[in-house]
Amino acid sequence: MRWFFWLLLCAFIGYCADRKGRNMWAWGLAALVLSPVIVGIVLALMPDEKGNGGNHLSRSYSDNEEDEEQEERRCPECGYLADAREQHCPRCGEMLW
Ligand SMILES: [Zn+2]
Repeated sequence: MRWFFWLLLCAFIGYCADRKGRNMWAWGLAALVLSPVIVGIVLALMPDEKGNGGNHLSRSYSDNEEDEEQEERRCPECGYLADAREQHCPRCGEMLW
């Protein structure tokens, strides 16, 4: 019955490798050839391939969008979309708040 547990461990390591964004079959085969215990420890020590880099990128992108919205101000008099740095509307001269 020992081979069955051995195979089950290899399948589990393959599953863990897949969840870490690594090659499931390469890790499962390595566990089968070497030892599921050793390969399992190596896999546990290795960092995730799917880091939070993508998460950080999307966050900085939304920050840029907010900045763009604040750079424009609508004139209360004529509805002209003026630059936020303008004190007066370039079209009608109305004071911008
Ligand atoms: Zn205006």
